[in-house]
Amino acid sequence: MTKTVLIWAECRDGSLRRVALEALGAARRLAGDDGEVHALLAGSGIPSGAANALIEHGANVVLVAEDPALSSFVPEAYLAALQAAVDAAQPETVLLGHTAAGRELAPRLAAAREGGHIADVVAIEGDGSDAGLFTRPLYAGKAFERRSFAPGGGLRVVTIRPNNLPPADELGSGRSGSVRPLPFTVPPLYTAVRSLVRRAGGRIDLAEADVVVSGGRGVHSAAGFEPLQALADVLGGAVGASRGACDAGYCGYGLQIGQTGKVVTPQLYIACGISGAIQHLAGMSQSKVIVAINKDADAPIFGVADYGIVGDLFEIVPLLTDELRRTLPTIGA
Ligand code: FAD
Repeated sequence: MTKTVLIWAECRDGSLRRVALEALGAARRLAGDDGEVHALLAGSGIPSGAANALIEHGANVVLVAEDPALSSFVPEAYLAALQAAVDAAQPETVLLGHTAAGRELAPRLAAAREGGHIADVVAIEGDGSDAGLFTRPLYAGKAFERRSFAPGGGLRVVTIRPNNLPPADELGSGRSGSVRPLPFTVPPLYTAVRSLVRRAGGRIDLAEADVVVSGGRGVHSAAGFEPLQALADVLGGAVGASRGACDAGYCGYGLQIGQTGKVVTPQLYIACGISGAIQHLAGMSQSKVIVAINKDADAPIFGVADYGIVGDLFEIVPLLTDELRRTLPTIGA
């Protein structure tokens, strides 16, 4: 029987999120050569070109649910579109990004379909069949759990952590696929979004950034984040923060990383003036390379850091920024 995997191709600010292409890449591998990948594009004013981009990256079918009720993320409305996509595609597995919206939708879908749910997956082994194993970090990355779905357990719903699985390769603009409108009924909505105020700088999405420069209480003020922003700009990264910095009012909670904030897994995480409390580590310890700058040589952050610099961040960060500004254009030249 042909295997079908459905992904939710999440969009933001008029373009596909990178995690949508990561889900597509994982779906292609799960579906195998003979299987099909269907992608749901849901929204109001869906970005032009998104459907074609999905086809070019390996989707066989793109289901387009376009409705004003989807202009903001209201879980009931998005769940209705997702359920319609499941009805249309009849997949064994549904993949979503482990984003704020994906985390809301996935368990709702699994419950509505009496299926199984594995969340926050960072690696997938096998083809997603009964023997397929899904790896997820536990205890702030101190342990990893490999889970599989029980045989005959119904729909399999998986969220994947951004920045961990390789995105789907572009297979070429000549690739053909089917783009279909997806009719669905908007259910009674229990909540409505009245306004949306973006607090974070938001130049680059923190959850998907390759480089994160984070500040803690050691930055001492809102102005103390300026050198961190300069370093992030040079590296093409995003700025994050510890809860200590947010609680102190140095930045908005939109930047908070950790157990009660965002989880990030960039290629490079630079922690500046952050002590390394376990709740902070829960949000960043899976970063590929961790650099810590702290004037306390005994700060616990050095326990997880690949590179540690003991010193005053206000001396070190500008030096690093200047040096990178000078050398970066020549790297790889
Ligand atoms: P501090 O612990 O005060 O550390 C500041 C560091 O800056 C120190 O190590 C100091 O040596 C260094 N420093 C000071 N000046 C300089 C300088 N000039 N140059 C270099 N270094 C300097 N925290 C999170 O981050 N994220 C969460 O999601 C989170 N969730 C929580 C949930 C719960 C239920 C609880 C109880 C706590 C949570 N916390 C969270 C809070 C956490 O326990 C810590 O209090 C917080 O992470 C500390 O922030 P910090 O490292 O910035 O501050």
